[in-house]
Amino acid sequence: MRVGIVGAGITGLALTHYLAAAGIDSVAFEASDEAGGVINTRHTDGKVLEAGPQRMRKTPGIEELATAAGIEDEFVEASEEQLFVYADGELGRAPLSTEEFFETDLLSWRGKLRLLAEPLTRPGMEQETARDLFVRKFGQEAYEKFIGPLYGGIYGSDPAEMPAAYALDSLMEREQEAGSFLQAFRKRVGSGQKSPPVSFRQGMQQLPNALAEVYSDRIEMETPVIDIAEKDGGYELTTSNGTEFVDHLVVTTPADVTAALLGNIVTGAEELDELRYNPLALVYLDADPDLEGFGYQVGYGEDLHTLGVSWNASMFDRDGVHTVFLGGMHEPELVERSDERLGEIAREEFEGVVGAEASVIDIARLDVGFPAWDQSWWTLEELETPEGIDLATNYTARMGVPSRVREASKIATKLEAQHESESPSPSAADGTPTRATGDD
Ligand SMILES: Cc1cc2nc3c(=O)[nH]c(=O)nc-3n(C[C@H](O)[C@H](O)[C@H](O)COP(=O)(O)OP(=O)(O)OC[C@H]3O[C@@H](n4cnc5c(N)ncnc54)[C@H](O)[C@@H]3O)c2cc1C
Repeated sequence: MRVGIVGAGITGLALTHYLAAAGIDSVAFEASDEAGGVINTRHTDGKVLEAGPQRMRKTPGIEELATAAGIEDEFVEASEEQLFVYADGELGRAPLSTEEFFETDLLSWRGKLRLLAEPLTRPGMEQETARDLFVRKFGQEAYEKFIGPLYGGIYGSDPAEMPAAYALDSLMEREQEAGSFLQAFRKRVGSGQKSPPVSFRQGMQQLPNALAEVYSDRIEMETPVIDIAEKDGGYELTTSNGTEFVDHLVVTTPADVTAALLGNIVTGAEELDELRYNPLALVYLDADPDLEGFGYQVGYGEDLHTLGVSWNASMFDRDGVHTVFLGGMHEPELVERSDERLGEIAREEFEGVVGAEASVIDIARLDVGFPAWDQSWWTLEELETPEGIDLATNYTARMGVPSRVREASKIATKLEAQHESESPSPSAADGTPTRATGDD
């Protein structure tokens, strides 16, 4: 069996690793001259600036990849997990444990009691929006003060536009298993299932770069796939370099690219072009505030453009770096403003919130930023992928880096079983689990 992978972001790279470990032939095509896709680290004036994910959880899958890439000693781990929300003119610690919940000033006692009544509310419903679900189950105050900003902040989206059916499907599954959202949350936090947040000494992209080097014989860089056609029970890929036949295809590209590549051969793929992404501007500031934690999201109702700020300096000792997120679903047009204006907005608002002076280091713009997971996701109802094609993407499954790795692992396991049933080998009988598990 020969597997073709379109894209060498973290999903394509992780799949390449798992297939290599299983002894399955594969080739990944990457359009860009760099691996990592959305994971994109810049180095400006000796500072590490992240234009994509700022951190990820060190799940067994991530550890396995780092070991395979030979950079297991390069992890940097964030110490104490403290997230803040800017609400009512001040920073308050977001309650991520039962103790923090009772101590937090973010909520009035009335708001706390309302939130605790969640197990008495009706279960989440697929037809409602994430906002309606959160307000119905936890109350308006908790939604506006931290649940909405923290949850919406993950996607740069507005939960009022996000259908629970897509945006909250795995949370609703956990609710069903545990009896309530709060119980599911307590179980997860109490069980110590959460892996620590990490990056690498040279930034997040160190992992994709190292993986691409280790598996360079399985990855064709700067080779975009231009066309895909069905042929002899498999697929013929036309790339900028020629044609290639594969038995199985795994597509990991952004939605518009997938629509163009699969539109003619997969039912409903053409409509993937309609999926919305939230554009973002990231402004990197140099500052030295007396604060410890991961950063803050801005509560709803505050008169600020800032969506949230990542405190890279505190998290991973990144030499004064703080990353301000602007734009998103709330203000997509803001991303079009000049560098000067964006820098000014980010700096002034940051100084106002944390009370420390800041200067602008650099600015990055992402026209295709976070997948919005909004009403346009209903178009996925039409999608029917055939046996020979897997879509492994952050708009058809969960977005976090560990989840991307986990999906790659699951697909590799499936293909391994298929491969072994076609050509039994001694390793097939061994039964040793090679796949990673963990949270995201
Ligand atoms: C701003 C931002 C912040 C985030 N923050 C976090 C975070 O803090 N923690 C976390 O865990 N997750 C975070 N995420 C989510 C996570 O980073 C992404 O979901 C994940 O990296 C996506 O990886 P992927 O490989 O599935 O897709 P991509 O990274 O999009 O990879 C797809 C690849 O396909 C290539 N490609 C495109 N067209 C073609 C073609 N025609 N032929 C061949 N190749 C092609 C692209 O160049 C790219 O390399 C964040 C995402 C964004 C956008």
